[in-house]
Amino acid sequence: MYSIRRKLSIIILVCSILAALLTAIFVNMTINNKFNEYMVNNQNKRNERIVQYFQEVYKRDKKWTADSGSEMKHEAYMSNYCITLLDSNKKLVWMMDPNDVKEKDHFKALDGKSGVFTTNDFPINYNGSVVGYVQIGQYSSVLLSAEDVNFKLSINKGIIASILLSLIIVIIISLYISKQFSVPIREVSNVSVKLSNGNYNSRTNVDTDILEIEKLKSSINTLGEKLNHQDLLRKRLVSDISHEIRTPLNILQNNLEAMIDGIIPVNTEQLIGLNDEVIRFGKLLNNLNTLKKFEAETVSINKEEVLLDQLLSSVCDDYSIALKEKNIDLVYNIRPDKDYSIIGDADKLKQVFINLLSNAVKFSNYGGKVWVNLTRGKEDIIVSIRDTGIGISKEDLPFIFERLYRGDKSRNKIEGSGIGLTIVKDILTLHSASIAVESEVGKGSTFTIRFMS
Ligand code: ADP
Repeated sequence: MYSIRRKLSIIILVCSILAALLTAIFVNMTINNKFNEYMVNNQNKRNERIVQYFQEVYKRDKKWTADSGSEMKHEAYMSNYCITLLDSNKKLVWMMDPNDVKEKDHFKALDGKSGVFTTNDFPINYNGSVVGYVQIGQYSSVLLSAEDVNFKLSINKGIIASILLSLIIVIIISLYISKQFSVPIREVSNVSVKLSNGNYNSRTNVDTDILEIEKLKSSINTLGEKLNHQDLLRKRLVSDISHEIRTPLNILQNNLEAMIDGIIPVNTEQLIGLNDEVIRFGKLLNNLNTLKKFEAETVSINKEEVLLDQLLSSVCDDYSIALKEKNIDLVYNIRPDKDYSIIGDADKLKQVFINLLSNAVKFSNYGGKVWVNLTRGKEDIIVSIRDTGIGISKEDLPFIFERLYRGDKSRNKIEGSGIGLTIVKDILTLHSASIAVESEVGKGSTFTIRFMS
């Protein structure tokens, strides 16, 4: 296994070496070709110049002698080639000895093949007719002087130096770039390891301008928050359940012990009291069972047309007695002449409204007020149930839809199970509807449901 930094550096380095090598080969080939072309051109010009020179000599003397143009010999010797002068019948006028230039080593062959002496004949023209030939011979097709060779060498050295320099720059850049990736990724992965070890408070604040890493970072942080939240809920759930179980069990145990010791009499009244506790205990198990059913992924809904206005008014009617008992005033607001139909499960939606209305009544004081509103927007239908009850504290508000969660105030004073709102949320999720709550302690609460129509 490699670290991301090492892997990235290796990839960048290999790519740059390849790119540098290819560039070097390409540049070298191009320069060589151009240089060779240039040298061949130069040699052709040299040949033309020699022919012109002999033309001038003939123009001046009108004949060939053993001295004609022999001044050229020195230049030819210095430049490593041989000149032979022939007359118009290709008879020798004078010639240089090829052996004189053979052993000189400050000249190199362009093609690297020296040693084979080759000659080329060039006609010398005067007044439109050939008056002689100049034969130019050398030990290679194109010759390079020591300066030419040095020039080529220095270009190659330049290419190698630029490759080395660019590789050093690439190594520095690749270390920097790979650090930009590796540091935040390492940081995020450290946090994920801590989270998996149960340290749910770990978060990362690492700075990055890479979109994907930023997303990864924020999702790891959100994951941490959720795990933390779930952990809190789990702990609370366990303490809630044990509290719920402990209370009836304590009552049973104390009473039974008192009966055994003869402190309280064993009579029907006492037994009915104890039976009530057993029933409470059973209710808790039933509630857990109901929740289990709702939370199983297999729960499905019957899809039928549901008229929300009718459903809501029938639930409100069912509650008239309970409302009267607590002298609660119910205001039922519904904008008439609108279509309040949605596709859903009437029974389950009825359960939602019952749970919300029963909470509104349960958590309202004597003489309170409850509003049930139904409105229709362009794309949604909104049901809101508002009460002037005890309200929900800010600390409880984020948790009230969680399993078995009961606000601290309601926990001891008001009977409940803590599953009503969990079921509400589960049913609404099955209907792709949302629920929001606003509440203030002592003033009341408003639950708002939004159905998409
Ligand atoms: P339960 O009512 O059985 O306790 P719920 O799941 O219905 O359980 O509600 C969870 C908690 O939310 C309640 O214990 C209570 O603290 C709070 N709650 C719900 N509805 C209201 C309301 N209308 N007014 C005040 N508190 C509420």
